[in-house]
Amino acid sequence: MKAPLPTQTEWKQLSPMMRHYLETKQAYPDCILFYRLGDFYEMFFDDALCVSKELELTLTGKACGLSERAPMCGVPFHAAESYLTKLVSHGHKVAICEQMEDPKTAKGIVKRDVIRIVTPGTNLSIQSLDGSRHNYLMCVFFQPDVTGIAVADVSTGDFLLTEADGIKTIADEIMRYEPSELIANEAFLISGLDTEALKQRHGTAVFPLEGKLFDEDACRRVLCEQFRVKDLSVLGTDSFPAGTIAAGALMQYLFRMQKSDLSNFTRLQPYLQGRYMLLDAATRRNLELTETIRDKSKRGTLLWVLDHTRTAMGARTLRSFIEQPLTDIREMEKRQDAVEALVNDASAREEIREYLKPVYDLERLMARITYQHANPKDLLAFASSLRQIPAVRSVLDGFRGTEALAELSEAMDPLTDLSGLIGQAVSEDAPLSAREGNVIRDGFDETVDRFRAADRDGANWLLALEEETRERTGIKNLRIKYIGNFGYSFEVTNSYRDLVPDDFIRRQTLTNCERFTTPRLKELEDTVLNARERLYAAEYDAFVRVRERIAGEIERIQKTARALAYTDAYASLACAAERNRYVKPQLSTDRVISIRAGRHPVVEQMLAHTDSFIDNDTYLDTNADAIAVITGPNMAGKSTYMRQCALIVLMAQIGSFVPAREARIGICDRVFTRVGASDDLSGGRSTFMVEMSEVAHILRHATPDSLLILDEIGRGTSTCDGLSIAWAVVEYISTYEKLRARTLFATHYHELTELEGTLPCVRNYCSAVREKQDGIVFLHKIIRGGADKSYGIQVAKLAGVPDAVTTRAAQIARKLAENDIARKNTGSLQNGPPSGQWEPAQMSLFEMKREDPLLARLRSVDVNRLTPVDALNILNDMRDELLTRGENEDG
Ligand code: ATP
Repeated sequence: MKAPLPTQTEWKQLSPMMRHYLETKQAYPDCILFYRLGDFYEMFFDDALCVSKELELTLTGKACGLSERAPMCGVPFHAAESYLTKLVSHGHKVAICEQMEDPKTAKGIVKRDVIRIVTPGTNLSIQSLDGSRHNYLMCVFFQPDVTGIAVADVSTGDFLLTEADGIKTIADEIMRYEPSELIANEAFLISGLDTEALKQRHGTAVFPLEGKLFDEDACRRVLCEQFRVKDLSVLGTDSFPAGTIAAGALMQYLFRMQKSDLSNFTRLQPYLQGRYMLLDAATRRNLELTETIRDKSKRGTLLWVLDHTRTAMGARTLRSFIEQPLTDIREMEKRQDAVEALVNDASAREEIREYLKPVYDLERLMARITYQHANPKDLLAFASSLRQIPAVRSVLDGFRGTEALAELSEAMDPLTDLSGLIGQAVSEDAPLSAREGNVIRDGFDETVDRFRAADRDGANWLLALEEETRERTGIKNLRIKYIGNFGYSFEVTNSYRDLVPDDFIRRQTLTNCERFTTPRLKELEDTVLNARERLYAAEYDAFVRVRERIAGEIERIQKTARALAYTDAYASLACAAERNRYVKPQLSTDRVISIRAGRHPVVEQMLAHTDSFIDNDTYLDTNADAIAVITGPNMAGKSTYMRQCALIVLMAQIGSFVPAREARIGICDRVFTRVGASDDLSGGRSTFMVEMSEVAHILRHATPDSLLILDEIGRGTSTCDGLSIAWAVVEYISTYEKLRARTLFATHYHELTELEGTLPCVRNYCSAVREKQDGIVFLHKIIRGGADKSYGIQVAKLAGVPDAVTTRAAQIARKLAENDIARKNTGSLQNGPPSGQWEPAQMSLFEMKREDPLLARLRSVDVNRLTPVDALNILNDMRDELLTRGENEDG
C-alpha cells in the first residue's frame, strides 16, 4: 500500500509544518524521516505505512490542510533509540530531523533540520551494537583490474584500506570483515558478485554511491583534511591508489551521514593482503572460526575456546586475531612471547584480568564522546574505566623483558587528568540525560554553583535582604513582595515614605503604599527567577565543555584503549593455553608441519571429559610427505583430524599456543578447505557444481606454502567419475611443482591408497577401528596404512536406520562384492596412469576403466597347453591388431 503524496495544486493547501516535512523528505528520499514534534518523532505518508508495519505501531492520521488526513505514526523521543536500531538493522536509513530551537520561545513554525542519518554501518547506539564484534562499514570502488576497498568502524575509529583483484578476492575481503553495510560504485553492483545473497545470508545492507564521490581529487582532499596532512604519502597509501579512492568516498559518505566532524578517525591503515593469511569464505565457514555452521552460534567455535577476554575491546581484538592470522613470522613470535610471558606468570596475568574486568568499552564510549552523544552515565563509566589503567600498567611494568608487553605498557597513558576531571565535574548519581539537572558537582563551575544556590536558597536570600534593608532604612514594616509581571519589589507603606533612601528606584505607586527596587534586589530577582531552568542549562553547558575537553584528547585515549585491548587479548590466549594444556609451537619457514599428539581444540572441549579425546600426530612437508591420503570408516574421526591440523596451524599463526604435546609449524600463506556440501556468495549452482568450483579455485590459487584440507572430493557424482576426479586431483597436487602443497586428503575411495608408492609424495593413513562381534569400535587413532572398508552399514545401524534397511543393505553389499562391481568399474585404475610430468591429455579417465581387448586375450591364454606355432600365431595376431590401431590413430 502506498499513501498518495499531495499533488502540485494540493501542495499550496498544506499546513506550513507539513510542507516543511515534505520538503525535508524530498531532500532525503532514500531515508525514513524521524520528524521531531514535541516529545515524539513522527512519520507521515509512505514512511508511516512502512514503519507502522515494521515496528508494529498504531497507524493514525494528522490533519495536514488537505481533505484527507496524512497517515501518521510516531515513537516517543526518549525511547527512540530502540525503534531506530530495529529499523536500521532491517537495512533502512533513518534521517533524524530535530527541533533546532525551543518550541516555547520560537516565533512561528519551529525551526527543524536533519542532524544526522543513521545507517547499519554508522549506528553508534551502545545498546544495539554487539560489544564483542566490530560494526564495519565497507566501501568498494570496483574496477575491472584493481578494486579499492576501505573498511571503517565508526564506533571505534578503526579505518583500513587495501586493494584486491578479481571478484573472488573481493568476496574474500567482504567475508573477512562481514560489514553490516557496504557502499559501492555502480560498477560493483554489476560486477557479478551476488549482492542479493550478501543481503539475505549475511545481513549486509548494500547501497550504491553516486559517481562523484569517487572523484580522485575530492577523495584525496578529504583524506588530507581529515588526517591533517599535506600529502597522503605520509599515511603510506601511495601504493594503493584505488584503495585511497575507496577510503575518500567512505569518508565523504560518513560526513554526509554524521553531519559532524569525524575526529575519532585518527589514523588510516593501509595493508597488503599478504600481511594476513588468506582465508576464503568457505574455509572460514568450514573451520567454524567464529560461528558454527549449524546455528551460527559462538559455542562450538575456535573463538569460543580462546575467548577469555574481560573487555569488549579485548573480545573484538581477539576476534580479529582469529579472523586475520598473520604471515609474518616475526610478528607471530612477538605475540607468542607475550602469551608465553603471561602463561608463565599466572598470578600477574590473573591480576591484570581482574583489573580489566570493570573496564567499559572505551573505544565505543570515545566515539559517543566525539560525536557528542555521550551522556553523564557514559562519562562516569568512562572515568571508572580510566581509573583501572594505572593498576594494569603497573603489573605490565613487571614484563619489561617481553617486547610486546613492554610496548603495551609504554602505550598505556594513565589518563589521570581525564578521570580526575570527570570525577570533579560529574555527580556520582547523575541521571542519563544531561539536560535534567544533578549532572555537575558542587564547586566545579561557578555559574552552576550560583544557580543551584539560587534554586535552593533563593527564598532565604530574599528574606536576608529584607531584614538587612529594614535595619538600614529603619522602615519597620518593609516587605519584599512578588507581584506578577513586576517581579520582586520593596513595598513601603505611606507612613514610612520619608524614610525611603536614595538608592530605591520607584516601580509602582498605589493608594496606600509604593513599590521600589534596588540594584541588589534586581540582581537577586534575576538570579532567583527561573533559577532551575538556568541551572539545568548551566549544568548542560558545563557538561558539554567537559565532554569536549575529553574529545580533544582522542589520540591519547585511543592509543591507551588499543593497548588495553591487546593486553586483554594476550591474557585471554594465555588463559586458554593454561586451562587447556596448550604448548608453544615452534614457527619456521621450511614448509614442514610436524605435530605430536595434536588435539582438536573445540571437539576436545565438547566431549564430556576432555581427556577422552584421542590425540594424533601429523607430519607433512613438501617433499616425500606432501599428501596424506586418509581412509577409514565413517565416524572414525577423519574430518576431526584434518580440521584439527588446520586449526593448529591457524592458532600458531595468530600467536596462540596450540593443543599438542609438541608442534613445529612451517607457516602457511593460505589454508584451503573443501568440506561437505555448501554454497557460497555466488549461490544458485548445484551442490556438485559448487564442489567443483571450489576444487577449481583451490587448484588455481594454492601454492607450495599452502595447506589443503580436502574432505571427500568427488562424492557428489557417480562413483566412477568421483573416483577419477579424486585420483586426478591427488596426482595433480603431487606432480605439478608450482602447487605441491601440504595436503590432507580424506576419502572413501580406497582405490586411492594405490597412489602411495606410485606418486613420490603420497603417504597413506587410516583411522583405526577394532571389529567386534556385535559391531565396531572407533579408536580415533590415525595410523600409517590404508583402509579397505568404510563400515558404512554399521554406522547406519548406529545412527538408528531401521533394521530392515540395514539388513537388506548388507545383503546387497555382499552381492556387489561377489560380482566385484567395484573392481569392474575401476579395475585399470588400480594400476593408475603413468606417473611423472602432469599432462592432462594422457588422462582420458573414461578410457582407463575399459580393459584393453588385447590384454583380455592375453589373459585368457593357457600357456601350459600352448604349442610354439599357436604362440607365434597369437603373437602375430596381436601385432597386426596393434599395427591396425596405430594406422587408425594416425589417420
Ligand atoms: P565421516 O567419514 O562419516 O565424515 P569422519 O571419519 O570424518 O566421518 P568425524 O566426523 O571426524 O568422522 O568424527 C566423528 C565423531 O567422532 C566426532 O564428532 C567426535 O565426537 C568423535 N571423534 C573424532 N575424533 C576423535 C578423537 N580423536 N577423539 C575422540 N573422539 C573423536
